[in-house]
Amino acid sequence: MAPLEQLVFDNTYARLPPGFAARVAPAPFPDAHVVSVNPAALRLLGLDADAATHPEFARVFGGARPLPGMEPLAMVYAGHQFGVYVPRLGDGRALLLGEVRAPDGAKWDLHLKGGGPTPFSRGGDGRAVLRSTVREYLAGEALHALGIPTTRALCMLGSRTPVYREEVETGAMLVRMAPSHVRFGTFEFFHHTEQHAHVATLAEHVITGHFPHLAAQERRHARFFEEVVERTARLIAGWQAVGFEHGVMNTDNMSILGLTLDYGPYGFLDDFDPGFVCNHSDHQGRYAFDQQPRVALWNLACLGEALLTLITEDEARAALGAFQPAFAAHFLARMREKLGLSGTRDEDRALVEDLFGLMAASHVDYTRFFRALNRFDSRPDARNDALRDAFLPPEDFDAWAARYRARLASEGSVDSVRHVRMDRVNPKYVLRNWVAQQAIARAQEGDFAEVDRVLALVSAPFDEHPGSEASAASPPTWGRHLVVSCSS
Ligand code: AMP
Ligand code: MG
Repeated sequence: MAPLEQLVFDNTYARLPPGFAARVAPAPFPDAHVVSVNPAALRLLGLDADAATHPEFARVFGGARPLPGMEPLAMVYAGHQFGVYVPRLGDGRALLLGEVRAPDGAKWDLHLKGGGPTPFSRGGDGRAVLRSTVREYLAGEALHALGIPTTRALCMLGSRTPVYREEVETGAMLVRMAPSHVRFGTFEFFHHTEQHAHVATLAEHVITGHFPHLAAQERRHARFFEEVVERTARLIAGWQAVGFEHGVMNTDNMSILGLTLDYGPYGFLDDFDPGFVCNHSDHQGRYAFDQQPRVALWNLACLGEALLTLITEDEARAALGAFQPAFAAHFLARMREKLGLSGTRDEDRALVEDLFGLMAASHVDYTRFFRALNRFDSRPDARNDALRDAFLPPEDFDAWAARYRARLASEGSVDSVRHVRMDRVNPKYVLRNWVAQQAIARAQEGDFAEVDRVLALVSAPFDEHPGSEASAASPPTWGRHLVVSCSS
């Protein structure tokens, strides 16, 4: 474990030709100070557990005193926002401070969000509010702990500086980490501005850094697109299986590495509702929970189009054709795990779909149902009251449970063995909106203990955490229909 000064930088993005990014001097809040540090992220960078006690930690990661080797820049990109192409977006309030080469060889972009305006701010203030900073900080760890690829976060920096949105809010900054922040929209920008040499350069950069096994392959660009399709299918299957809705699946928020990227008005399902829309501004429900697989494919088609100077139309079409089967296979595999099934049977798909139908009809809490299923008693006379009482009428559940029982018996499933396995699959704690909201309210009063408590819960979501059971509950009345604003 190393102190701060020993971080090694390997800024591959800064070495790309001019036109990929703008050099920007960060303009952080003068009073920025550390309010929460993610111990898991410190470990990823190879930093000491007490690194945040370093007097310069906030100044270094907040951009006030970049370390030697950091080269802060704002990346340019474009994107389809709610189906409409916006020709130039880019990092309007985020900066790539530098790329750390960790002791284990992994490379991490350090991305400061809320560090002031850039040439891509389009009139925005370059700031982030505490509310959305807390939400992004917690969500990255929550999804990671559930086995879903995502950006992570190193720390949150607080400030007393007011930031103006629909109302006056408190400003904050987030230091985010990912192996790369290249988006579908980065390719779209160069393609639609007809900078075709830059499309090739960007592909080279991504393949060399993140898909090195493809570098020497024939038709490597087509193989690359196929892998992005596969990774995206896997990502969305993960979201659907844990009940996560991203909320703003614009192509500028789609990671080329298949990571969950840019947490805005996201939400975890409480009651199972396939048409759930977490984004208050998404009036058409374009990004509703059950639309996510379809939208991902649409977004991949935009990426495919942006690669058409490198791959043929046939190659693009073939790669896109693999999305739906890949998604379905990943999703069914995840759902089999959630049901505690080891083998595969043709009837499994119907078993899952019929369960979803019943859960939707009875507004069953998604996370609590599966956690309770971990204790399903498969003896013929068992009633499983904790599960059946969530359904109306409970007999709906009984009929499904009889099929489930038979399915378990068909592979000789042993309750006690399955219970242990399922406890590591079906989480007790997800980042429910009402739980995040409580942490935000306390943070707005200057108290970050609740943020740290929730971070610990969602970082180990399969553990029991005695004393924190209340945070695993369905939302109280006040927390049922919280409006999550798109502004951040
Ligand atoms: P988002 O909705 O956060 O994914 O952002 C969409 C685009 O708007 C990106 O180019 C952001 O950098 C930019 N943006 C969002 N908020 C701000 C802000 N407060 N100041 C400048 N740019 C912003
Ligand atoms: Mg974005």
